[in-house]
Amino acid sequence: MRRFTGDRLLVATHNRGKLEEMTHLLEPYGVACVGAAEMNLPEPEETGTTFVENARIKAHAAAKATGMPALSDDSGIEIDALDKAPGVYTADWAETGSGRDFVMAMEKSHKMLLETGAAEPWTARFCCTLVLAWPDGEDVVFPGVMEGRVVWPMRGSQGHGYDPIFQPKGYEITFGEMDRWEKNQISHRADAFRKFVAGCFDPK
Ligand code: IMP
Repeated sequence: MRRFTGDRLLVATHNRGKLEEMTHLLEPYGVACVGAAEMNLPEPEETGTTFVENARIKAHAAAKATGMPALSDDSGIEIDALDKAPGVYTADWAETGSGRDFVMAMEKSHKMLLETGAAEPWTARFCCTLVLAWPDGEDVVFPGVMEGRVVWPMRGSQGHGYDPIFQPKGYEITFGEMDRWEKNQISHRADAFRKFVAGCFDPK
């Protein structure tokens, strides 16, 4: 696999949390992360129908615009009884027109689950796909997964997004009840990050 040998990586996101997480992760490898906002990059439209497609759109747009290698991330939750919805539309389900309301999105997921009549456990997984794109058009894909189930009612106030209704496999608590440090060790994003680091960086 093509290794990353530079000392600056563009993180193709306008999300400050994602940028901070990546900066922290790559510090030990002597890599400085630069965000898309810092480079005045527009947010491309996510027109893909899979996590990989959307992550590719973001990474390639940023690499092409700047001439720098760019890393992007696309993530979401797949609920089996809803035919893997909301999937790539996870953030869209929370859109109100004037911001995002994740309680509304979780209520919608629960209502739809009840409507299907599906018996519990409502198996689900969080997915995270990282794509590293080079300015010459080459890319590498690193998929990460955390299996679990949707529970109701919501539990816990830590984390973000759909965390309060997601109980990871092997745990009795939801991501919303889990310490942030512990979640970051086991999450779908951690899984993808580990593959990215193992694939692209030499141990220091
Ligand atoms: P995007 O990757 O920025 O398109 O957004 C993915 C959406 O998936 C986020 O808005 C969150 O709602 C949801 N999501 C992704 N990862 C997590 C997680 O770890 N916990 C809760 N929600 C998540």
